[in-house]
Amino acid sequence: MTNPFEKLRQSLVRTKENLLGKLSRVVARRRIDDELLDEIEQILIEADVGVKATMRLIDHLREKAKETGTSEGDEVIALLREEITAIVTRPVRSATVDDSRQPAVWLIVGVNGGGKTTTIGKLATWFSSAGKKVMIAACDTFRAAAVDQIAIWAERSRVDIIKAAEGSDPAAVAYDAVQAATARSADILLVDTAGRLHTKSNLMEELKKIRRVVGKALPQGTVSCKLIIDGSTGQNAVAQARVFTEAIGCDGIIVTKLDGTAKGGVIIAIAEELGLPVDFIGLGEGIDDLQPFDPGQFARALLS
Ligand code: GDP
Repeated sequence: MTNPFEKLRQSLVRTKENLLGKLSRVVARRRIDDELLDEIEQILIEADVGVKATMRLIDHLREKAKETGTSEGDEVIALLREEITAIVTRPVRSATVDDSRQPAVWLIVGVNGGGKTTTIGKLATWFSSAGKKVMIAACDTFRAAAVDQIAIWAERSRVDIIKAAEGSDPAAVAYDAVQAATARSADILLVDTAGRLHTKSNLMEELKKIRRVVGKALPQGTVSCKLIIDGSTGQNAVAQARVFTEAIGCDGIIVTKLDGTAKGGVIIAIAEELGLPVDFIGLGEGIDDLQPFDPGQFARALLS
Protein backbone atom coordinates (compact mmCIF):
# COMPACT_ATOMS: atom_id res chain seq x y z
CA MET A 1 0.00 0.00 0.00
CA THR A 2 1.29 3.48 -0.87
CA ASN A 3 2.14 5.52 2.19
CA PRO A 4 -0.37 8.32 2.88
CA PHE A 5 2.00 11.20 2.13
CA GLU A 6 3.04 9.63 -1.16
CA LYS A 7 -0.62 9.21 -2.09
CA LEU A 8 -1.31 12.84 -1.19
CA ARG A 9 1.68 13.97 -3.23
CA GLN A 10 0.57 11.96 -6.27
CA SER A 11 -3.01 13.19 -5.97
CA LEU A 12 -1.90 16.80 -5.85
CA VAL A 13 0.46 16.54 -8.80
CA ARG A 14 -1.65 18.70 -11.12
CA THR A 15 -2.28 21.33 -8.45
CA LYS A 16 1.44 21.34 -7.71
CA GLU A 17 2.32 21.87 -11.36
CA ASN A 18 -0.19 24.71 -11.47
CA LEU A 19 1.38 26.34 -8.44
CA LEU A 20 4.96 25.27 -7.80
CA GLY A 21 5.67 24.55 -11.46
CA LYS A 22 4.64 28.03 -12.56
CA LEU A 23 6.18 29.76 -9.55
CA SER A 24 9.53 28.05 -10.01
CA ARG A 25 9.71 29.17 -13.61
CA VAL A 26 8.91 32.76 -12.68
CA VAL A 27 11.13 33.28 -9.63
CA ALA A 28 14.35 31.72 -10.89
CA ARG A 29 17.20 34.21 -10.98
CA ARG A 30 14.85 37.15 -10.36
CA ARG A 31 14.84 39.83 -7.69
CA ILE A 32 11.83 40.23 -5.39
CA ASP A 33 10.33 43.46 -6.69
CA ASP A 34 6.86 44.75 -7.56
CA GLU A 35 6.97 43.25 -11.01
CA LEU A 36 7.77 39.77 -9.68
CA LEU A 37 5.14 40.10 -6.92
CA ASP A 38 2.53 40.96 -9.57
CA GLU A 39 3.42 37.84 -11.52
CA ILE A 40 3.25 35.69 -8.38
CA GLU A 41 -0.12 37.22 -7.52
CA GLN A 42 -1.44 36.25 -10.93
CA ILE A 43 -0.25 32.65 -10.52
CA LEU A 44 -1.83 32.33 -7.06
CA ILE A 45 -5.17 33.69 -8.28
CA GLU A 46 -5.13 31.33 -11.26
CA ALA A 47 -4.37 28.43 -8.91
CA ASP A 48 -7.66 29.06 -7.04
CA VAL A 49 -5.96 30.30 -3.89
CA GLY A 50 -8.57 33.07 -3.72
CA VAL A 51 -8.11 36.84 -3.62
CA LYS A 52 -7.95 37.20 0.16
CA ALA A 53 -5.35 34.49 0.74
CA THR A 54 -3.38 35.72 -2.29
CA MET A 55 -3.21 39.24 -0.82
CA ARG A 56 -2.07 37.83 2.51
CA LEU A 57 0.65 35.80 0.80
CA ILE A 58 1.90 38.72 -1.27
CA ASP A 59 2.00 40.98 1.82
CA HIS A 60 3.93 38.26 3.64
CA LEU A 61 6.49 38.07 0.83
CA ARG A 62 6.88 41.84 0.74
CA GLU A 63 7.29 42.12 4.52
CA LYS A 64 9.69 39.20 4.81
CA ALA A 65 11.80 40.49 1.95
CA LYS A 66 12.04 43.86 3.70
CA GLU A 67 12.63 42.37 7.14
CA THR A 68 15.40 40.02 6.09
CA GLY A 69 16.81 42.12 3.30
CA THR A 70 16.29 39.17 0.95
CA SER A 71 15.97 40.04 -2.66
CA GLU A 72 16.45 36.58 -4.10
CA GLY A 73 13.45 35.28 -6.02
CA ASP A 74 14.52 31.74 -5.16
CA GLU A 75 13.59 32.39 -1.52
CA VAL A 76 9.96 32.92 -2.50
CA ILE A 77 8.90 29.26 -2.50
CA ALA A 78 10.07 28.66 1.09
CA LEU A 79 8.36 31.85 2.26
CA LEU A 80 5.11 30.87 0.55
CA ARG A 81 5.23 27.36 2.01
CA GLU A 82 5.61 28.85 5.49
CA GLU A 83 2.66 31.21 5.13
CA ILE A 84 0.41 28.70 3.33
CA THR A 85 1.00 26.27 6.19
CA ALA A 86 0.02 29.03 8.62
CA ILE A 87 -3.19 29.82 6.69
CA VAL A 88 -4.40 26.23 6.48
CA THR A 89 -3.43 25.50 10.10
CA ARG A 90 -5.28 28.50 11.56
CA PRO A 91 -8.85 27.11 11.60
CA VAL A 92 -8.92 24.84 14.62
CA ARG A 93 -9.62 21.26 13.63
CA SER A 94 -12.93 20.06 15.06
CA ALA A 95 -12.75 17.01 17.27
CA THR A 96 -13.16 13.77 15.36
CA VAL A 97 -15.37 11.78 17.70
CA ASP A 98 -15.83 12.51 21.38
CA ASP A 99 -15.95 9.10 23.08
CA SER A 100 -17.53 10.46 26.22
CA ARG A 101 -20.65 11.66 24.45
CA GLN A 102 -22.07 8.86 22.36
CA PRO A 103 -23.25 8.76 19.76
CA ALA A 104 -21.61 11.58 17.87
CA VAL A 105 -23.90 12.58 15.01
CA TRP A 106 -22.44 13.97 11.82
CA LEU A 107 -24.89 15.56 9.42
CA ILE A 108 -23.30 15.27 6.01
CA VAL A 109 -24.45 18.11 3.76
CA GLY A 110 -23.58 19.41 0.31
CA VAL A 111 -24.93 19.62 -3.21
CA ASN A 112 -25.60 16.52 -5.30
CA GLY A 113 -22.63 15.21 -7.19
CA GLY A 114 -20.11 16.62 -4.73
CA GLY A 115 -19.29 13.22 -3.30
CA LYS A 116 -21.55 12.97 -0.23
CA THR A 117 -22.49 9.31 -0.67
CA THR A 118 -18.97 8.17 -1.49
CA THR A 119 -17.55 10.15 1.44
CA ILE A 120 -20.04 8.62 3.87
CA GLY A 121 -18.91 5.17 2.69
CA LYS A 122 -15.28 6.17 3.16
CA LEU A 123 -15.93 7.70 6.59
CA ALA A 124 -17.80 4.58 7.71
CA THR A 125 -14.80 2.47 6.74
CA TRP A 126 -12.36 4.93 8.32
CA PHE A 127 -14.13 4.98 11.68
CA SER A 128 -14.81 1.23 11.64
CA SER A 129 -11.11 0.56 11.05
CA ALA A 130 -10.39 2.79 14.03
CA GLY A 131 -12.55 0.46 16.14
CA LYS A 132 -15.66 2.67 16.27
CA LYS A 133 -19.18 1.37 15.94
CA VAL A 134 -20.62 3.28 13.00
CA MET A 135 -24.19 3.64 11.74
CA ILE A 136 -25.57 5.40 8.69
CA ALA A 137 -28.93 7.16 8.34
CA ALA A 138 -30.24 7.50 4.79
CA CYS A 139 -32.14 10.78 4.99
CA ASP A 140 -32.09 11.83 1.34
CA THR A 141 -35.66 10.62 0.99
CA PHE A 142 -36.09 12.99 -1.94
CA ARG A 143 -34.37 10.57 -4.34
CA ALA A 144 -35.00 6.83 -4.13
CA ALA A 145 -31.69 6.15 -5.87
CA ALA A 146 -29.83 8.00 -3.12
CA VAL A 147 -31.07 5.54 -0.50
CA ASP A 148 -30.07 2.59 -2.69
CA GLN A 149 -26.60 4.02 -3.28
CA ILE A 150 -25.93 4.70 0.37
CA ALA A 151 -27.14 1.18 1.21
CA ILE A 152 -24.49 -0.24 -1.13
CA TRP A 153 -21.78 1.76 0.65
CA ALA A 154 -23.11 0.63 4.05
CA GLU A 155 -22.81 -2.97 2.90
CA ARG A 156 -19.29 -2.42 1.57
CA SER A 157 -18.18 -0.88 4.83
CA ARG A 158 -20.20 -3.45 6.82
CA VAL A 159 -22.11 -0.98 8.98
CA ASP A 160 -25.80 -0.79 9.91
CA ILE A 161 -28.06 1.55 8.02
CA ILE A 162 -31.42 3.08 8.92
CA LYS A 163 -33.45 3.89 5.86
CA ALA A 164 -36.96 4.99 5.10
CA ALA A 165 -39.27 5.01 2.16
CA GLU A 166 -38.96 7.62 -0.59
CA GLY A 167 -40.91 10.73 0.30
CA SER A 168 -40.93 10.21 4.06
CA ASP A 169 -39.91 13.07 6.34
CA PRO A 170 -36.09 13.15 6.51
CA ALA A 171 -36.11 14.72 9.98
CA ALA A 172 -38.29 11.87 11.27
CA VAL A 173 -35.90 9.31 9.76
CA ALA A 174 -32.98 11.13 11.38
CA TYR A 175 -34.81 11.10 14.73
CA ASP A 176 -35.42 7.34 14.50
CA ALA A 177 -31.81 6.78 13.48
CA VAL A 178 -30.50 8.69 16.51
CA GLN A 179 -32.68 6.56 18.77
CA ALA A 180 -31.46 3.38 17.09
CA ALA A 181 -27.83 4.52 17.31
CA THR A 182 -28.26 5.28 21.01
CA ALA A 183 -29.95 1.92 21.66
CA ARG A 184 -27.20 0.06 19.79
CA SER A 185 -24.42 2.03 21.53
CA ALA A 186 -23.00 3.37 18.29
CA ASP A 187 -20.03 5.72 18.52
CA ILE A 188 -20.94 7.69 15.44
CA LEU A 189 -24.00 8.14 13.25
CA LEU A 190 -23.40 9.50 9.74
CA VAL A 191 -26.54 11.16 8.38
CA ASP A 192 -26.86 11.48 4.61
CA THR A 193 -29.01 14.46 3.59
CA ALA A 194 -30.55 15.74 0.37
CA GLY A 195 -28.42 17.86 -1.92
CA ARG A 196 -31.19 19.41 -3.95
CA LEU A 197 -34.79 20.35 -3.36
CA HIS A 198 -37.04 22.54 -5.45
CA THR A 199 -35.38 25.67 -4.15
CA LYS A 200 -32.24 26.49 -2.20
CA SER A 201 -34.23 27.93 0.70
CA ASN A 202 -36.29 24.71 0.94
CA LEU A 203 -33.10 22.72 1.18
CA MET A 204 -31.62 24.94 3.88
CA GLU A 205 -34.87 24.87 5.87
CA GLU A 206 -34.96 21.10 5.66
CA LEU A 207 -31.34 20.80 6.82
CA LYS A 208 -32.01 23.17 9.72
CA LYS A 209 -35.03 21.10 10.70
CA ILE A 210 -33.00 17.87 10.66
CA ARG A 211 -30.40 19.54 12.85
CA ARG A 212 -33.05 20.75 15.32
CA VAL A 213 -34.75 17.39 15.53
CA VAL A 214 -31.47 15.51 15.95
CA GLY A 215 -30.46 17.95 18.70
CA LYS A 216 -33.70 17.17 20.53
CA ALA A 217 -33.24 13.42 20.16
CA LEU A 218 -29.69 13.72 21.47
CA PRO A 219 -29.58 15.92 24.55
CA GLN A 220 -26.30 14.36 25.74
CA GLY A 221 -24.54 13.90 22.44
CA THR A 222 -22.86 16.15 19.93
CA VAL A 223 -24.25 17.12 16.55
CA SER A 224 -21.74 18.23 13.94
CA CYS A 225 -22.41 19.43 10.46
CA LYS A 226 -19.82 18.49 7.86
CA LEU A 227 -19.95 20.10 4.46
CA ILE A 228 -18.85 18.09 1.44
CA ILE A 229 -17.24 20.28 -1.18
CA ASP A 230 -16.05 19.23 -4.63
CA GLY A 231 -12.47 20.55 -4.77
CA SER A 232 -12.33 20.28 -8.54
CA THR A 233 -14.81 23.16 -8.88
CA GLY A 234 -12.30 25.75 -7.62
CA GLN A 235 -13.78 29.10 -6.63
CA ASN A 236 -17.35 27.78 -7.03
CA ALA A 237 -16.57 25.51 -4.11
CA VAL A 238 -15.83 28.52 -1.92
CA ALA A 239 -19.06 30.26 -2.94
CA GLN A 240 -21.04 27.10 -2.25
CA ALA A 241 -19.37 26.59 1.11
CA ARG A 242 -20.30 30.14 2.09
CA VAL A 243 -23.99 29.56 1.27
CA PHE A 244 -24.15 26.40 3.38
CA THR A 245 -22.16 27.68 6.34
CA GLU A 246 -24.12 30.94 6.53
CA ALA A 247 -27.43 29.08 6.40
CA ILE A 248 -26.79 26.14 8.68
CA GLY A 249 -23.50 26.72 10.46
CA CYS A 250 -21.16 23.88 9.50
CA ASP A 251 -18.20 23.13 11.76
CA GLY A 252 -16.00 21.26 9.34
CA ILE A 253 -15.42 20.69 5.65
CA ILE A 254 -14.49 17.63 3.67
CA VAL A 255 -12.98 18.48 0.30
CA THR A 256 -13.43 15.74 -2.29
CA LYS A 257 -11.92 15.01 -5.72
CA LEU A 258 -8.53 16.54 -5.00
CA ASP A 259 -7.02 13.77 -7.10
CA GLY A 260 -6.53 14.74 -10.67
CA THR A 261 -7.57 18.38 -10.31
CA ALA A 262 -5.35 21.42 -10.77
CA LYS A 263 -7.60 23.42 -8.46
CA GLY A 264 -6.49 22.05 -5.07
CA GLY A 265 -5.34 25.56 -4.08
CA VAL A 266 -8.99 26.06 -3.17
CA ILE A 267 -8.25 24.57 0.27
CA ILE A 268 -6.17 27.67 1.01
CA ALA A 269 -9.07 29.90 -0.06
CA ILE A 270 -11.53 27.97 2.11
CA ALA A 271 -9.29 28.24 5.19
CA GLU A 272 -8.66 31.95 4.68
CA GLU A 273 -12.15 33.06 3.68
CA LEU A 274 -14.35 30.81 5.79
CA GLY A 275 -12.05 30.07 8.70
CA LEU A 276 -13.43 26.53 8.77
CA PRO A 277 -11.25 23.50 9.36
CA VAL A 278 -10.89 20.91 6.64
CA ASP A 279 -11.38 17.64 8.50
CA PHE A 280 -10.79 15.15 5.69
CA ILE A 281 -9.87 15.14 2.02
CA GLY A 282 -11.06 12.78 -0.71
CA LEU A 283 -8.35 11.46 -3.03
CA GLY A 284 -10.24 9.02 -5.26
CA GLU A 285 -13.37 6.98 -5.77
CA GLY A 286 -12.29 3.99 -3.69
CA ILE A 287 -13.35 3.20 -0.14
CA ASP A 288 -9.86 3.90 1.24
CA ASP A 289 -9.31 7.13 -0.68
CA LEU A 290 -9.85 9.39 2.30
CA GLN A 291 -7.30 11.07 4.53
CA PRO A 292 -7.52 13.30 7.58
CA PHE A 293 -6.33 16.70 6.42
CA ASP A 294 -2.81 17.52 7.59
CA PRO A 295 -1.93 21.19 6.92
CA GLY A 296 1.84 20.72 7.07
CA GLN A 297 1.80 17.74 4.72
CA PHE A 298 -0.53 19.57 2.36
CA ALA A 299 1.84 22.54 2.09
CA ARG A 300 4.80 20.18 1.69
CA ALA A 301 3.05 18.14 -1.02
CA LEU A 302 2.22 21.32 -2.91
CA LEU A 303 5.42 23.26 -2.63
CA SER A 304 8.34 20.90 -2.33
P1 GDP B 1 -23.34 12.76 -4.10
O1 GDP B 1 -24.35 13.02 -5.17
O2 GDP B 1 -22.91 14.03 -3.43
O3 GDP B 1 -23.76 11.71 -3.13
O4 GDP B 1 -22.02 12.27 -4.85
P2 GDP B 1 -21.44 10.80 -5.07
O5 GDP B 1 -20.85 10.29 -3.81
O6 GDP B 1 -22.45 9.96 -5.75
O7 GDP B 1 -20.22 11.15 -6.03
C1 GDP B 1 -20.37 11.71 -7.30
C2 GDP B 1 -19.22 11.23 -8.21
O8 GDP B 1 -17.99 11.72 -7.70
C3 GDP B 1 -19.10 9.72 -8.23
O9 GDP B 1 -18.77 9.33 -9.56
C4 GDP B 1 -17.93 9.42 -7.29
O10 GDP B 1 -17.24 8.25 -7.64
C5 GDP B 1 -17.07 10.66 -7.51
N1 GDP B 1 -16.22 10.97 -6.35
C6 GDP B 1 -16.57 11.16 -5.06
N2 GDP B 1 -15.50 11.45 -4.31
C7 GDP B 1 -14.42 11.45 -5.12
C8 GDP B 1 -13.01 11.71 -4.94
O11 GDP B 1 -12.49 12.02 -3.85
N3 GDP B 1 -12.23 11.61 -6.07
C9 GDP B 1 -12.74 11.29 -7.30
N4 GDP B 1 -11.91 11.24 -8.34
N5 GDP B 1 -14.05 11.08 -7.50
C10 GDP B 1 -14.88 11.15 -6.43
